[in-house]
Amino acid sequence: MPHTKGYAATSPKAPLAPFSFERRDPREHDVVIDIKFCGICHSDIHQTRDEWSDYLEESIFPMVPGHEIAGVVKTVGSKVTKFKVGDKVGVGCFVDSCRTCSSCKSGLEQYCLVHTDWTYNGRDKDGVPTYGGYSERIVVDENYVLRLPENLPLDACAPLLCAGITLYSPLLHWQAGPGKKVAIVGLGGLGHMGVKFAHALGAETTVLSQSLKKQADGKRLGANQFYATSDPETFTKLKGYFDLIINTVAAPMDWNDYLNLMKVDGSMVMVGLPEKQVPVGPFSLASRRRSLAGSSIGGIRETQEMLDFCGKHKVVSDIEVVAIQKVNEAYARVVKSDVRYRFVIDMASLKG
Ligand code: NAP
Ligand code: ZN
Ligand code: ZN
Repeated sequence: MPHTKGYAATSPKAPLAPFSFERRDPREHDVVIDIKFCGICHSDIHQTRDEWSDYLEESIFPMVPGHEIAGVVKTVGSKVTKFKVGDKVGVGCFVDSCRTCSSCKSGLEQYCLVHTDWTYNGRDKDGVPTYGGYSERIVVDENYVLRLPENLPLDACAPLLCAGITLYSPLLHWQAGPGKKVAIVGLGGLGHMGVKFAHALGAETTVLSQSLKKQADGKRLGANQFYATSDPETFTKLKGYFDLIINTVAAPMDWNDYLNLMKVDGSMVMVGLPEKQVPVGPFSLASRRRSLAGSSIGGIRETQEMLDFCGKHKVVSDIEVVAIQKVNEAYARVVKSDVRYRFVIDMASLKG
């Protein structure tokens, strides 16, 4: 394989800069993908800045981030049956797993009990560091490649591979649908997909955002209601209201305020991954038999189901396309909650 061009953080908190590296030679079940677009997930920022050091065993630098990959198949190995040259494909947060444990066997590869090969900041089965989608191509086993809907634009599909599935999976698991009151906390990359999916599934959908600045957008995306969490009235008015709250926020906040917004038997699902641990008051849960849960992306089967759902219902991400040379500025804007609603890197800019 020729050298692969990309962008990497060479050390924690270093700005991303051009970086060349080796991809493995394709094996018989591998698909070589020309990456056209890659979304910028807040997890890319957490990891390049080493903000999850309390949770991860190690962070691997240089780090080429990117796990919202949309591209086109360039070549296929001799035994590949699922894809052919020219297919529109995607790769999400992982590129392999053990394939034999109970999680893998039930299509929950993201919860593999042995080893998930993360798309970047991870290691493959040979212990070699993995490099992500801020690069010109990637080599992935066909069983971990997704088919993108033909009728949707490639750039706006890229964020479905992480932001999309991260919200679709818990909404399905906790049965969001007609008659259910669902709140999405934080209208960012994940949150805006949550609003679109909750609305498409027929749930009454409420956005809880820091201010009312994004209210018009929230309504356009499908929200029935929009409240500012900076207003203490919000927590009085909505007390005991929701069946399901999906919390996408990674910043410190009083979780008890949010738990108290749920009905009897309500569930709050954490998908945001803050740097620091958060205290939870037992009465916020016990007083209404409430549940606090977490959820991580989705397995391959469910991710494909989500992509097919998006094709059918014409759901894509609202994006701002940027050149890779602007990636550090894009990071700064994501941190300020100043993105509507996902940055997507146009990988053609790597050649510039
Ligand atoms: P994002 O685009 O930055 O969105 C986060 C949103 O949180 C912001 O738009 C903002 O919404 C709200 N927010 C930001 N700072 C806040 C503060 N100080 N107080 C209250 N609310 C605040 O990030 P993202 O890409 O959606 O990712 C969100 C989190 O999910 C990250 O921690 C990321 O690592 C994690 N994540 C988890 C998974 C998983 O599988 N569980 C997958 C992907 C990402 P408003 O402006 O509306 O208030
Ligand atoms: Zn992500
Ligand atoms: Zn497994």
